[in-house]
Amino acid sequence: MITKFINRILRRGHPARMPHPSHHNPPKKIPKKSHRIDSHLLSKNAVKVTHTLQQAGFQAYIVGGAVRDLVLGISPKDFDVATNATPDQVQKLFRKARLIGRRFQIVHVTFFGKERPEVIEVSTFRALLDNAGDHLAESGRILRDNVWGTQIEDATRRDFSINAMYYDPATETVLDYHGGMDDIQKRTLRMIGDPAKRYREDPIRMLRAIRFAAKTGFTLDPKTRAPIEKLAHLIQDVPPARLFDEILKLLMSGYSWAAIQGLRDAGLHHGVLPLLDHMLDEKQSLQAGANFIRLALENTDSRIQSGKSISAGFLFASLLWPDLIRNWQKKLSDGLANIPALNSAMDETIETQSSGMTIQRRFEADMREIWAMQPRFEKRVGRFPYRLLESPRFRAGYDFLLLRCATGEQPAALGEWWTSFIAADPITQQTLLNSIKNEVHDKTGLTKPTAKRRHRRKSKTAVPSPTKLPEN
Ligand code: ATP
Ligand code: MG
Repeated sequence: MITKFINRILRRGHPARMPHPSHHNPPKKIPKKSHRIDSHLLSKNAVKVTHTLQQAGFQAYIVGGAVRDLVLGISPKDFDVATNATPDQVQKLFRKARLIGRRFQIVHVTFFGKERPEVIEVSTFRALLDNAGDHLAESGRILRDNVWGTQIEDATRRDFSINAMYYDPATETVLDYHGGMDDIQKRTLRMIGDPAKRYREDPIRMLRAIRFAAKTGFTLDPKTRAPIEKLAHLIQDVPPARLFDEILKLLMSGYSWAAIQGLRDAGLHHGVLPLLDHMLDEKQSLQAGANFIRLALENTDSRIQSGKSISAGFLFASLLWPDLIRNWQKKLSDGLANIPALNSAMDETIETQSSGMTIQRRFEADMREIWAMQPRFEKRVGRFPYRLLESPRFRAGYDFLLLRCATGEQPAALGEWWTSFIAADPITQQTLLNSIKNEVHDKTGLTKPTAKRRHRRKSKTAVPSPTKLPEN
């Protein structure tokens, strides 16, 4: 015990202890004419951070996913900086710098510009951990690792070769320790080191593999892919909050549908997204809700790809919708009236899903609002539509309605009506309302007088029946 403790102190005291010989390979230095990074895609703030650190005598590079994206010609969504300065030293150099004490201690440097604030994440080079034991859980998972190291070590403990490149904006040079450039050429995602060992250390890396493959369209190198099937169960050991963050990243990546397919193909979906387990395991074409979820995810992807925002509440409201409908229908056949049935179904859906993963608590209010609004879209009489328009989350509720129309769960005409109603002046709005009254008399069967329906206890048309969901 004591020796373990002393060893740990010694390790901390010697950040530059000798790395393993195989990690001695010098990096390839790649000049601008080869990497062709477009400096317009750089964050000025990230460049400020590396510049300030370098002026103070430290090494500092843009690193990780940002370099990968820059080389691919994609505008990175955030910028990370790696340095040999310790978090304390970093903090002293910037006005708005905050120490974040997570598994790795890092510094968030915030810049306030004309647009929203930008946070540059600055991390100190991390040391490689040996298998001495005290940092590893039994399965091999890393528990704690605030041990500073050299750049070589830092590169080696990153996940994929394409995520282990360092860019110095001052010299416009990329340092490539693990053949990331070659792998980009070959469109390959390759885990650094022994993949099985790396997945055991941190099973989240399996999900990252799938997410990056979906995002870049790259192929997993066979050795990187092979161990996943056998190790997939390790995902269950990951703390739920971290798992959730990773799943959220995956769903918000702009490639969620591809990533979900990737998870399934890799056998990684079990317990990761309990709400999808069911749907992914059975023959999708027979699953009524599958089509809805596919459309919801494709819709999310195209919104994100075109730079529009998407709320996690909306996303989870969509993913849980088929489940909610099932419960709603059940409550109705138990004899509850429409709205009480919906409320009770919402409780049940949220309850059962939260037992699988702590998804919803943060987003629960949003989800409930979006769901509760849905029957109100059908009530197109009197003041009801005007009141609905005024609700603060109207836009999300309306987007959700459009999704339901797109899957055929609600008639397209309903969505179109609302689209016109939102844009119309008061007189046209009244005309639109009148048109509903008239529609009641035509025999389309799509619109029925709401007033009458209220008296009917179990209206079949009030709730979209699961069987009405289109099957692939
Ligand atoms: P994106 O930000 O586009 O999702 P990213 O690669 O930047 O992708 P981050 O989570 O921001 O991903 O992590 C930044 C970098 O930190 C990664 O590129 C990788 O080098 C390293 N990294 C992150 N998570 C891990 C991990 N679980 N294991 C090893 N290295 C990691
Ligand atoms: Mg990143």
